[in-house]
Formats: sequence, structure tokens, C-alpha cells
Amino acid sequence: MTEHQAPTEDPRPSGLRNAESLVVVLTGNGKGKSSSAFGMVMRGLARQWKVAVVQFIKSGDWAVGEQRICESLGVTWLSLGAGFTWDSNDLEHDKAVARAAWSTAADLIATGDFDLVVLDEITYLPTWNWIDVSSVVDSITSRPPHVNVICTGRDAPDELIAIADTVTSMTNVKHAYDSGIAAKRGIDY
Ligand code: ATP
Ligand code: MG
Repeated sequence: MTEHQAPTEDPRPSGLRNAESLVVVLTGNGKGKSSSAFGMVMRGLARQWKVAVVQFIKSGDWAVGEQRICESLGVTWLSLGAGFTWDSNDLEHDKAVARAAWSTAADLIATGDFDLVVLDEITYLPTWNWIDVSSVVDSITSRPPHVNVICTGRDAPDELIAIADTVTSMTNVKHAYDSGIAAKRGIDY
């Protein structure tokens, strides 16, 4: 086993600059993408930021726990998806819903009305060819300078990773689901 010693040197690079805003991508197969984004929503709210969350897959009739709490704290929360694709009997309809959702989200970013916009599960839209990845990249790179953007979802496209400042891939070590345990209130939603 490797011996680890407490660091005695400050590991932080010197001369760091401040960015007006950041782009964060949370991807990978493991649990923690959306919940990490909602953790940063809390941090933003603590700094009096205006925050918007757009959910691209979940539909409005879900009302997950985090939605209720965030709305009570003043977050603009839009669940604009058509629901899980495996429940769908009209994928063309789902695609149209997703494209409209992206148009709404792109407008939210462009107005500059929000300090933080969370694009929850956005990665699936370009992966499934429902929208062009270049429109997501263009919207993010041409955003007003103070607008922070967080993108979540598995298999983030390379083009999105390329323009992000911080990218984390959640690694699935194990998940309760694999041993037959259903999604848990308070932990999963
Ligand atoms: P969370 O919202 O808990 O942070 P996530 O955003 O990383 O999860 P999603 O792919 O959006 O994960 O899936 C959401 C739901 O699926 C959650 O209930 C989560 O616990 C569950 N989940 C996440 N990763 C896995 C996995 N590897 N296997 C099975 N279920 C998973
Ligand atoms: Mg998620």
C-alpha cells in the first residue's frame, strides 16, 4: 500500500485569474451529475445569483423534490422534456418537444437575465441527433460574459467538452439499482 503524507507545500498555482463565468460539464455513467449541478445552484443562490434550470428529458408532471425547493428559493425551473424515451410512442413528437426546449434554453442564456443556467440532460439531444451540437456550442460560446452554464448528461459530445472550463466524468463503481434497489426519495429525487 502506498504511504500518503499530509502535503506540506501549497499545491495551488500562483497568479490565478478570475473568470467572469464558467462552463461546467458533468458527464459519465455514474450517479451524481444532476445532483452536483443542483449543489452549484445552491452556491449560486447563496451569492444572490439569478438561476434557471432547464430539464430536457423529464417532463413537467414529475415535480422532483429539488424542483420544489429550488422554486421556493426563486429559481426559474422549466421541465420541458417529453419524458423517458422508452415510455414514448411517438419519438418524432419527443424530438419536436426537445427542439422547442432547446430554443427556449438558448433564449434564456442569450438574454443575460440569469447568472447561472443549468442544462440538465442536454447531452442526449445532440447524441440522438435531435439538435445540432454546433447550436449548443454557439449558444454557450456567444453567451453574455456573466452567464455561467452547467451541462449534464452521459456521453457529452467532444465539441462540448472542448469549450468547457471544467469537465467531470462520474465513474460508476456500483449503483444500488444493480442490486435491485429502486430509486430512493431524498437520494435519487
Ligand atoms: P443524480 O440525479 O442522482 O445526480 P445523475 O444525474 O448522475 O443522477 P442520470 O443519468 O440523470 O444520473 O439518472 C438519474 C437517475 O438514475 C437517478 O435516480 C440516479 O440514481 C440513477 N442513476 C444514475 N447513475 C446510475 C447508474 N449507473 N445505474 C443505475 N441508475 C443510475
Ligand atoms: Mg441527471
